[in-house]
Amino acid sequence: MQAVVDGELRLTAEQAMRLYREMPFQPLARWADLRCRAIHGDHIRTYVIDRNINYTNICNAKCTFCAFRRDGHEDDAYTLEYHELLDKIQELLDIGGTQILMQGGMNPDLPLDWYLDLLHAIKERFPKMHVHGFSPPEFIEFVHFFDPPGSTLADKIRWVMTRLREAGLDSLPGGGGEIFAPAVRRKIGLGKCDAEAWLTTMYVAHELGMHTSATMMFGHIEGVADRIHHMDLVRRWQDKAIEDFAEDGGGRYKAFIAWPFQPDNTPLGRLKEWGRHPDDDLNEPFPGDVVAKLDGSGDKSEHREFGRRLRLAGASDYLRMQAVSRLYLDNIYSIGSSWVTMGPHIGQVALHCGASDMGSVMMEENVVSAAGTTYCLSEPLLCRLIRESGFIPAQRDNEYNLLRVNDHDAAPDLQISDWSTQRERQLHIQGAVNAGSPVELTVHSENNG
Ligand code: SF4
Repeated sequence: MQAVVDGELRLTAEQAMRLYREMPFQPLARWADLRCRAIHGDHIRTYVIDRNINYTNICNAKCTFCAFRRDGHEDDAYTLEYHELLDKIQELLDIGGTQILMQGGMNPDLPLDWYLDLLHAIKERFPKMHVHGFSPPEFIEFVHFFDPPGSTLADKIRWVMTRLREAGLDSLPGGGGEIFAPAVRRKIGLGKCDAEAWLTTMYVAHELGMHTSATMMFGHIEGVADRIHHMDLVRRWQDKAIEDFAEDGGGRYKAFIAWPFQPDNTPLGRLKEWGRHPDDDLNEPFPGDVVAKLDGSGDKSEHREFGRRLRLAGASDYLRMQAVSRLYLDNIYSIGSSWVTMGPHIGQVALHCGASDMGSVMMEENVVSAAGTTYCLSEPLLCRLIRESGFIPAQRDNEYNLLRVNDHDAAPDLQISDWSTQRERQLHIQGAVNAGSPVELTVHSENNG
């Protein structure tokens, strides 16, 4: 483990499985923390000020874990007008924001020019605003919708991506990663791209010099081996991107963020939890673990209840998984804490289990909040959480450059005398009050599906 911490030894997938299953929580967290400190030092932990703009909720995919999508004819279906979107960016700029995370549903009614004109409009009015937008499933749908020239999928993606990049796209978020193993993916991601297409999209982005992030949504029907396999694919493709493009200024995965599935209001969430059905025998392994293989070759036929039972991840599972991700992904710079779904105080603990980044102080979240509890925080509160965890909070940009190290009296959290004005809020409660519109909220990170 010391060699892993020192970056001299790479964990195998089998070793990662053993760590997750066998190592007690405290030493696992400690090793992950030591690895994090070896990369990021002992003092600074980061956050970013950005805003999640979901430009449309009209989507022709039907992911079973999604409570956000709408069909075009539904009353609360929407596509934002440019002026609404630009107004949101102005509000972000007014609080010191540096980037937008722009993702939406797979809306077949939007032509390529809609995206190009939008990006031009954003960059014309906000030339320094970083546009972190369009996850791989959106790119795969762009290929289907726009029918670009090219003999391979990579060629077609490159054609679309080059144009979006020239219009102002700066980097890609890792949405839609979920779990890569085909047996799981087919069950939960109806209409979404497969793992090969997802990873190819990111590879093309790296080729074009753009950075990206990778994500994983776990704690549903998958087995633990599926999670390790997922991280293994990210690590392999990162190796490839570094080897193929780093010398020529190529991009890479800058961050990995894993978060537990949020079940409320989703079709997937209606499945019974493992052990709640009279036929379930808790002495038997979870169906997902019976099916899952470290090489991703698991087949649903190996357990008749596969895909019919959930195993939700609580705080302990989440923190263990995050710790393993820090130790396994030796070629990825940042591990993000998923406090948005797990709550601010688990987010604090996560900073001692391998996470180096608290994600976004963001003004809006519509996707995860539609599926259950998510939290929002003000910048002072986020800084306070980081400081109370024993670190100095620092605002970063998309490439993890430090913009403002809050080690002085003018730090956002040190200006607050009445903390009763800064309590965290649960977004789904506010969302219910504002039901029917893409509500204005306060804080989020890149942790949405
Ligand atoms: S997760 Fe995204 S792609 Fe899937 S149904 Fe929801 S909006 Fe559509």
